[in-house]
Amino acid sequence: MDHYQLIVIGAGPGGYMAALRAAKLGLRTAVVESREAGGTCLNRGCVPTKALLHASGIYREAREGAGAGIMAKDVEIDLPVMFARQKEISAKLSAGIEGLFKSAKIAYLQGAGQITAPGAVRVTAADGTAADYTADNILIATGSVPARPPIPGLDLPGVMTSDELLQGSDALYKSLVIIGGGVIGVEFATFYSDLGCAVTIVEGLDRLLPNLDRELGQNLAMALKKRGVAIHTGAMVERLEESGDGLTVHFNTKNGPGSASGEKVLCAIGRRPYWEGLFAPGLQPETVGRAIKVDGRYQTSIPGVYAIGDVSSKIQLAHVATAQGEACVEMICGKEPTVDVSIVPSCVYCRPEIAAVGLTEAEAKEAGIPAKAGKCVMFSNARTMIADPGRCFMKVVARTDTREIIGAQLMCEHSTDMISQISQAIANHMTVEQLMKAMRPHPTFEEALGEALMELSAKLG
Ligand code: FAD
Repeated sequence: MDHYQLIVIGAGPGGYMAALRAAKLGLRTAVVESREAGGTCLNRGCVPTKALLHASGIYREAREGAGAGIMAKDVEIDLPVMFARQKEISAKLSAGIEGLFKSAKIAYLQGAGQITAPGAVRVTAADGTAADYTADNILIATGSVPARPPIPGLDLPGVMTSDELLQGSDALYKSLVIIGGGVIGVEFATFYSDLGCAVTIVEGLDRLLPNLDRELGQNLAMALKKRGVAIHTGAMVERLEESGDGLTVHFNTKNGPGSASGEKVLCAIGRRPYWEGLFAPGLQPETVGRAIKVDGRYQTSIPGVYAIGDVSSKIQLAHVATAQGEACVEMICGKEPTVDVSIVPSCVYCRPEIAAVGLTEAEAKEAGIPAKAGKCVMFSNARTMIADPGRCFMKVVARTDTREIIGAQLMCEHSTDMISQISQAIANHMTVEQLMKAMRPHPTFEEALGEALMELSAKLG
């Protein structure tokens, strides 16, 4: 029976990056994966959605280029090509991960993993053959799957999760109702509205992106409405039913009942940790809700068994899974974690993009932290004027006592690439003035960051 120092179950961004880190640190490592290397992120999440948004953005820009002097006539969409390209990108990246395993001498065990006892893993291949392995440490990185709450009608044909929607369709849906105005919902709303599909978002809470700064969600709602997206917030879905040539979603609001109809419905109301069949009968880990419970070292209640990423984390993001996986392995090897897992940037690839990290001014105040925010609305930012993506702004939050940066909320083009300078500042306890020290090139979007910092510095006195 083969023995490893670490067996990782699940090759998503948490599992595969943990395995690569472990191999670098000298551990004899194996990875078990029942589907494609790269997990949800690469095959059914981050990468396919951004590939589709890239394509729909080209279409939208071509159609709306008249203001910039581009008259593109007869621009057409080839949906099967769009979806095929997205799948091709995922397949290439997935093959790349398998290549990385090979060069790092990581054993790639294809099949479903089951923990049969502490330190023991059985891998059952698709053809039913099983093999047993032992390990000093087992890392669970089995991720999550779309949640489908028991709402009447949510199992009707035509109701899809992101997994099914990403399989693609030959023709563009005429209309789509999206249940859930979180990140996944608004990214699909952006994609389908770019292409000319009539989109309606139904969100139970009082605004889009309810986990982010209020102004971000409100601004995004205005931008989407301008593009023709219908939005119902504070709308709790009661039931779905077949109607005409599609489906009707019935919801309740504080002003009474309402409904939205569409050819298809996307259910984007969250994801649940996935660990079905992972533990042999009689071996159950402690849980928090559906998530596997871990301590500060990612240790589960079963000795020698660790868990990271969507299966155990409150925040379900690819970079969180990666950072946790690497930190877990580093601690197993007696090292300090390289990355501070408490500072989590969130990015939304809508138009304009949204990126946030740390605390909002309101959250800081709620937590009793004396804080102020500096803001720049980017009306006179040259790059914003050139790109013309609608209302953009940047907000930076700092402590009033130490002047340390503690958060930022950005809504502008390329904000997803700019947020890391704020994460760096937070991780290294930099002050407003330290972040202002470096010259910012012109013309750039991030000149607005300089202006927000300038305002913040003045406010702090
Ligand atoms: P996963 O990526 O889910 O990987 C788990 C792997 O484990 C899977 O490959 C699965 O097949 C395998 N597995 C499960 N059980 C077993 C078993 N018993 N044996 C063997 N293998 C098993 N996050 C971002 O940061 N940025 C984004 O832009 C973003 N966009 C997203 C868009 C969509 C539509 C979705 C659905 C998600 C998106 N996410 C995004 C979230 C991100 O995909 C997840 O947070 C991330 O993939 C979690 O990584 P993980 O390693 O924990 O698990």
